Amino acid sequence: MDKRQITIKKDILNANREIACNIRGLLDKHQVRMINIMSSPGSGKTSLIMKTLDHFRDKYHIAVIEGDVASSIDADRITGMGIQAVQINTGGGCHLDALMIEKATGNIRLEQLDLIIVENVGNLVCTADFDLGAHKNVVILSIPEGDDKPHKYPLIFMEANIVLVNKIDVAPWFDFDLSSFPDVIRGLNPEAQLIAVSTKTGEGLDNWFSWVEGMLNNRGY
Ligand code: MG
Ligand code: ZN
Repeated sequence: MDKRQITIKKDILNANREIACNIRGLLDKHQVRMINIMSSPGSGKTSLIMKTLDHFRDKYHIAVIEGDVASSIDADRITGMGIQAVQINTGGGCHLDALMIEKATGNIRLEQLDLIIVENVGNLVCTADFDLGAHKNVVILSIPEGDDKPHKYPLIFMEANIVLVNKIDVAPWFDFDLSSFPDVIRGLNPEAQLIAVSTKTGEGLDNWFSWVEGMLNNRGY
């Protein structure tokens, strides 16, 4: 990148951050929390969201914003559960930005809502650059992707409040080093929590639900 490109990128990110701050302000006013779930394609974002909706649907009012390059497959799965979902198609764009979220939240009734779950576009690179106005960033890494990903894509792990290692049910068949992985994450981001889960078998999901519940109970109003 030359100097001019760097300046343009800075301007874009500054403008994005301003919108993101406005979104957070609006959500805070309505006592709504928003989480931004990021991962590669196929790591289990939609599966985690569906398990989370199943677990909390009788207790909290939740809406979902689905970001995808194309299609409404994920949003259809969510609305099929009777949960409000807003689809954003980026039309080739590889990440969500705050302006897209601002438009989507305009279609969600914030009164009486507790939580908005954003499923970002499957991408470990530039999704991390864009503040969406969420209160917490969630990063999922699945066992088949390999334990080297935090070294290759450090920024997204540095931006995470919590890292979920998903698909631990298939760990015996892969060389993912689960014993040293906590040190890898701590080295990049000492504040991040780390949970091992399987959205398929349900293992570890109680820890995730506790984290979500803790966040919702700690809205501080
Ligand atoms: Mg998905
Ligand atoms: Zn992108």
